[in-house]
Amino acid sequence: MNHFDLIDGALHAERVSLERIATTVGTPTYVYSSATLTRHYSLLRQAVDRHPKQLGAGALIAFAVKANSNLSVLATLAKLGCGADTVSEGEIRRALASDIPGDRIIFSGVGKTDAELAFAIDVGVRQINIESGAELDRLIAVAAAKGVAPAIAIRVNPKIGAGGHARITTGGETDKFGVPIEEAIPLYARAIASPHLTPVGLACHIGSQITALEPMEAAFRTVRQVAETLRGQGHPVERLDLGGGLGVPYHGQTDLPSIDDYVAMCARVLDGLDVEAAFEPGRLLAANAGVLLSRVIQVNQRADGRRFLVLDAGMNDLMRPALYEAFHDLVPVTPREGEMGPYDLVGPICESTDIFARDRQLPPLRAGDLVAFLSAGAYGAVLSSEYNSRPLVAEVLVDGDRWAVVRPRPSYDEMWAREPKAEWLE
Ligand SMILES: *Cc1c(COP(=O)(O)O)cnc(C)c1O
Repeated sequence: MNHFDLIDGALHAERVSLERIATTVGTPTYVYSSATLTRHYSLLRQAVDRHPKQLGAGALIAFAVKANSNLSVLATLAKLGCGADTVSEGEIRRALASDIPGDRIIFSGVGKTDAELAFAIDVGVRQINIESGAELDRLIAVAAAKGVAPAIAIRVNPKIGAGGHARITTGGETDKFGVPIEEAIPLYARAIASPHLTPVGLACHIGSQITALEPMEAAFRTVRQVAETLRGQGHPVERLDLGGGLGVPYHGQTDLPSIDDYVAMCARVLDGLDVEAAFEPGRLLAANAGVLLSRVIQVNQRADGRRFLVLDAGMNDLMRPALYEAFHDLVPVTPREGEMGPYDLVGPICESTDIFARDRQLPPLRAGDLVAFLSAGAYGAVLSSEYNSRPLVAEVLVDGDRWAVVRPRPSYDEMWAREPKAEWLE
């Protein structure tokens, strides 16, 4: 479900014409819909609120900032009461700058530095998710130096990986994330024994773009068992952070688990445990809330019949296809008449991985036509770069009939200004 629809034959974001945005801001440009962000958050919030006994009355929904860290996107979610799941000092700073209070911020990540841990303590994050014994020891030292005892959860690796591609699986035995179950129990006891930590529970996140509930359910049951074992040893376990990872329909699939089914499964697994749950959705909230607008530079027709649709968006603007063979639907912004035929969708970057798709069936397209990659609101702009000295892709946020450039494309002068010349070269 999203708010990108045809109005009078042309694709709009809510009530704003994408053609108008492209004419004003240029391309490539990401366009986000506030209504879609709001709708997805509200659906999840309502689903969670239907299970106060199983999930806790104040269950936190913490948007995974790494999926889309634009300050206006975060501020849109902040106004709805959404928290933030963060993996760096920069992401914590972005969340705070978007008016997400510290007590709604979770600090995750496999390699937090001492300085980042100290920063997280200073701004009062809700909880720090610990991913290894080595990290636990460093946090104890940092907290001891400050004379405080921050809330922590232990991220358990349940040896169940899942996700839309091997490169986005995190819960498998050989993945770098989390603490193996056998080690999690003694680690928790060690945390309890430290006067400089306040262990509040467990966390788990097994992968991304997960399209079936079974692996998640199995992982959560494992985490529940760990929680019960810990309680059996007399340790308090008050919170279970269930991570993110629920998939979205990139192909227009209709057989994905619904938000309601997902939350009902979580409630079933936690039933009777009396914990407060937390959710860390990234893709679920943002993916379908964004498109990437691009113009056709030209069509390269080969003698053997192959046709390349050369776009002004490249892998530096939308890296998901090159990084993990991701699928993004491409649609003309103004529908074109004519027989459908195959195109290879490519960018202008000098890399053979700069290809978005092969043999896509599209109506006839010409130089100058405006097209949109759909479902590009998560892991899109955040992964963009200036490779090939292409200015960083712009971002626009739409809200009803209002719209704003929320990350302007830099000028070349601005780009060069970030690279002061070594004095001996002046
Ligand atoms: C990436 C990540 C998420 C969000 O994953 P999605 O698939 O975008 O929902 C949540 N929690 C942690 C710890 C993550 O690393």
